[in-house]
Amino acid sequence: MKIRQLGDPILRQKSLAVGRDEFQTHEIDSVIQTLKQVLDGIKAISDENGNALSAPQIGKLKRIIMLRIDGVFTPMINPVIIDASDEMFDFVEECFSFYNLRATVQRYKQINVQFQNEDGRVKQITVSGEMSGLIQHEIDHLDGIFFLDHVKKENNIASVDYILKDNPQRLKVVRKMMDYMVS
Ligand SMILES: [Zn+2]
Repeated sequence: MKIRQLGDPILRQKSLAVGRDEFQTHEIDSVIQTLKQVLDGIKAISDENGNALSAPQIGKLKRIIMLRIDGVFTPMINPVIIDASDEMFDFVEECFSFYNLRATVQRYKQINVQFQNEDGRVKQITVSGEMSGLIQHEIDHLDGIFFLDHVKKENNIASVDYILKDNPQRLKVVRKMMDYMVS
């Protein structure tokens, strides 16, 4: 499977920090390359998707997430949220590890994230809105947390079959993406 699916115990484990001597090793480079490849594969099926993925989802328990920011792949190694706004927002979430479910989750509207790039250099960015929600979602994966764990009211959870019941065209694309993820 290209992406580990709900029920796989690896998704519930805590990922390990990438150590100083691990940067630019074959192991870490290959995690980064695989994350990019899988996201490109998803984007080829649906242009609006394929923008964020975490290492545990490809079976590697390393603290690495991959974001596509303004169309550019941005690997974040050992990411930490160092500051967050008091203000929260409702973010409709989906996850490639259980793509048939969606829910609205409360996330920090703005966060400041510190991470290391591929060379091990420390970077910091402030993001808000959708990108803030995406990064919080991906960092959660590094601690074995799903967005489902944040859902307060069960009736927020919906299946894509229900959400897209009147949009068979889109449902077809979604199914194609799901087939790709589990192939
Ligand atoms: Zn996810």
